[in-house]
Formats: sequence, structure tokens, C-alpha cells
Amino acid sequence: MDDDILEKYLLAGKIASQVREESRKLVAPGKSILLAAETIESRIIELGGKIAFPVNISLNEFAAHCTPKAKDDSVFGDNDVVKVDLGVHVDGYIADTAITVALDKTKQNMVTAIERALKNAISMATPGTKTGDIGTVISETIESAGYRPVSNLSGHMLGKYTIHTGISIPNIPTKSNEILSEGDAIAIEPFLSEGSGYVKETNDAEICRLASEKPERSPHAREIIRIAKEKYRGLPFALRWIERPSGALLSTIINQLVMRGIIHRYPFLRDSEKGFISQAEHTVIVADEPIITTK
Ligand code: MN
Ligand code: MN
Repeated sequence: MDDDILEKYLLAGKIASQVREESRKLVAPGKSILLAAETIESRIIELGGKIAFPVNISLNEFAAHCTPKAKDDSVFGDNDVVKVDLGVHVDGYIADTAITVALDKTKQNMVTAIERALKNAISMATPGTKTGDIGTVISETIESAGYRPVSNLSGHMLGKYTIHTGISIPNIPTKSNEILSEGDAIAIEPFLSEGSGYVKETNDAEICRLASEKPERSPHAREIIRIAKEKYRGLPFALRWIERPSGALLSTIINQLVMRGIIHRYPFLRDSEKGFISQAEHTVIVADEPIITTK
């Protein structure tokens, strides 16, 4: 990896790490989830980064892809298990990191266990490691703590302006022959569950991205395509970021764009048995001494 690219990964990681740690005080019973999301996203900008994707704030049995709606009035509950997953980029070079905050202290074990799984996985982020072997270590760590790994979520390789590219980093053993190479930028993100360890999509989605560009006649639809392409550079965006149109009209237009394959939507992901889920994530540059950019 070129030094100037590494520097951008490191800067994105430093900003992401600072904002992630600051987010802990935003997660408290009775506090607004929308305010937490907006504060996290504006801190990324204030610190000189750009938002790589809308902050995901997923509670309890939800694993990922939740973010508040426009004017969302929900607040954190006394016993919520809160996953905060945020992304920063510098010139397209992404830092992707997540923590779990258990407001119910009796759930602290699932936080400790997932952090241990992440730590064990990171120690394997060296050139030549088989991705499936990382999955084995993650699942063994999680199972030894009495939980199930989430089998259908995985870590991923990062590319310029691309969150998921190339290889996946599984959270369970696989027979994949993919191996890590020096300089790969990867996000390792184990999830564990008190339920089935299998997530399903729900009907809700607040995050989208441009999937493919096609001609559109409606001015509103064209404007959304333009924003998705020029402002968000094909990276995910939140519906609450779109000022106009809003409400039902925005939903209608997004539905049409999804039907036409122009917009991809990310439905909320929930454990199929509604078991609580925890997550931990770091971005790592593969090397003999793995570099954790989001440490
Ligand atoms: Mn993430
Ligand atoms: Mn990720």
C-alpha cells in the first residue's frame, strides 16, 4: 500500500475511533436516538472526515442497518443493548468501526465476549491467513462464552469509496480458500446472539445507496439519483438526509427507484428468534503486525 493511502486510512481511523468513544456518552436511558445519530455524524465532519455511511444505531435483537427516521422521537430504554456502527472516509479511504453499549449491566458478558472475539480475530490479520480460519476463531471464542455467532453476517474488504469489496471475513468456519494479503484493508466485525444466530430482513429500511444509474423522467427521482451519485459518491445514505421531497412522497419515489433497480435499500436486520445481539468492529490493515486503524 502506498504511504499516502495508508495515511488516509490512518486519519479516517483516528477520527472514527474518537467519534466512537465520544458516542458512549450519547447512549443513555431517555436520550434521543436521533440526537445521538446527528451528533455522531456532525462530529465526523468537525474532525475533518466525511461520513462513509449513516451511523447505524441498532437496539437489542436488531443487528445492523437501523438508523433513525427524520423527526424520529425514540429514546434509549433503561435496558437496551445498543450497537453503534459508524464509518468515516478520507478521500474515499474508509474506517468502519462499531461498539456495543449494554445499558442493562446484566448483559455486559455479551459485550466482553464480542470484544474478545474481535481481538482474537485481529491477531490473525496477517498475510497468508485463510479467512475461514478467522471465522473458526471468532465462532470458538463466542461459543466458549455461551453464545452463538451470527452466521449470515460477515466482515469485508474495503475499497476506495466501496464498503464491501473482494473477500468476506466470516464469523463462522468456512471452507473458503481466500487468503489475506499484505496491505489489504479489512473490517472485521463479529456479531453474537442470545437467539438463533441467524438474522432476517424486516420491512423497515432507512438506508439506501445508488445501485445502477438509469434514465428517469420524474424530476424528484432524478434529483435523488443525482444526490446519490454526486454528493454521496455511491456510498450509503440515510433517508433522513434527503431534505426534499420528504415523508410519503419520498417513500413513493424510493420504492419506485428500488423496483427499477436504481436504488438499493438496506432493510433492518434482526435475529430470527429475536435474541439480543452484540457486535464489535475494527478496520485493520493486513501486515505481519496488523495495523488497527480504528484503535
Ligand atoms: Mn460497520
Ligand atoms: Mn463493516
